Amino acid sequence: MALVNPHFLQLPNHYLFSEIAERVGRYRQRHPDADIISLGIGDVTQPLAPAVVQAMHRAVDELASASTFHGYGPEQGYASLREAIVQHDYAARGIDLSPDEVFVNDGAKSDCGNIGELLHTDNRVAVTDPVYPVYVDANVMGGRAGSLHDGKWNELTYLPCTEANHFVPQLPAQPVDIVYLCYPNNPTGTTLTRAQLQRWVDYARRHRTLIVYDSAYEAYIQDTRIPHSIYEMEGAREVAIEMRSFSKTAGFTGVRCGYTVVPKALKAYTTDGKPASLNQLWHRRQSTKFNGASYVSQRGAEAVYSAEGQEQVRRTIAYYMENARLIKQGLTTMGLTVYGGDNAPYLWVKTPDGKTSWQFFDHLLHQSHVVCTPGSGFGPSGEGFMRLTAFADRNRTLQALERIAGTRGKR
Ligand code: PLP
Repeated sequence: MALVNPHFLQLPNHYLFSEIAERVGRYRQRHPDADIISLGIGDVTQPLAPAVVQAMHRAVDELASASTFHGYGPEQGYASLREAIVQHDYAARGIDLSPDEVFVNDGAKSDCGNIGELLHTDNRVAVTDPVYPVYVDANVMGGRAGSLHDGKWNELTYLPCTEANHFVPQLPAQPVDIVYLCYPNNPTGTTLTRAQLQRWVDYARRHRTLIVYDSAYEAYIQDTRIPHSIYEMEGAREVAIEMRSFSKTAGFTGVRCGYTVVPKALKAYTTDGKPASLNQLWHRRQSTKFNGASYVSQRGAEAVYSAEGQEQVRRTIAYYMENARLIKQGLTTMGLTVYGGDNAPYLWVKTPDGKTSWQFFDHLLHQSHVVCTPGSGFGPSGEGFMRLTAFADRNRTLQALERIAGTRGKR
């Protein structure tokens, strides 16, 4: 008899974005002519950079001829891409990493989930609240979350990020073994200063805590004082894994390519306290279970680092950040309270008139035909907020703002 992993059965049926799609679907059925604008899901809309497209075309042509064909590549990723990553994303910021500390993947989401395979079930895990749901659900699947009570897993430590603490999580009151940090943050669009991030690294060194640092949105940082990588902090390579992605940096949500940095100095521990190299274990795991990202995707990712590629992706990011500025300015003028959006493509908007997140979701959908993401879907501390994204086309963004302004009087 094949037994299922019982932890999978504990997961609630509804994934946030399915619930949103269902509500929008029901509304569309009743109002087939409604022109609905989505500022909800975090997916990009602008085309790939021309330098990336050309590199991918060239890669396909190589695959079309026996003399230049490529089959399986190195599990860890092509050396030329890993060298470009080390050079441009790290050495250029004074961070000394070696290419064998970089593992190319098919996007950050896979490794956000898979990394848990290296870690004991008994680890105490902390997440921020609100949180990118993948960290929570992956730990539920891995048996580290306990059971769900009133929207919280009883064995996870939640670190509330609220207006009162300016969305900066406090260090845990009780020591934790693993903490997931995501900056710039999805969903709140907020960032940590160098001093705030250094406090986390110092905490992790004191407690031998592993920090899983997700910086999928680092390319959106505008303020030069904000750290792009956790490895800008002293001692971070002893305690942190960093995950990055070409998805939001270069429009790769459909292409699929990202990378995880697992430094050689990083240790986790055996139950009797002996250090174990996570770099070696991750290499072992990847070479067993992963056959590398596609050749075409990796060639495309490498082109992001060419001079033209850099200029082109910078322009697309500037386009989205202008959307963010327009949304923030527009909503603030309407009297709404808006956080984020300065160094991230997400805006965290306080729901007006005491409405819950879902009440405001329905209000926006029905009155303005605009879709947002209800903050409560990201965790209990997200209640009373909604998340908007800056990833829509400019005209649609402006149209959405006009519609919201037009219906602000209707309660
Ligand atoms: N991490 C965060 C915080 C995200 O918001 C996302 C996607 O929305 C991802 C990781 C996953 O990105 P991908 O798998 O496309 O690289």
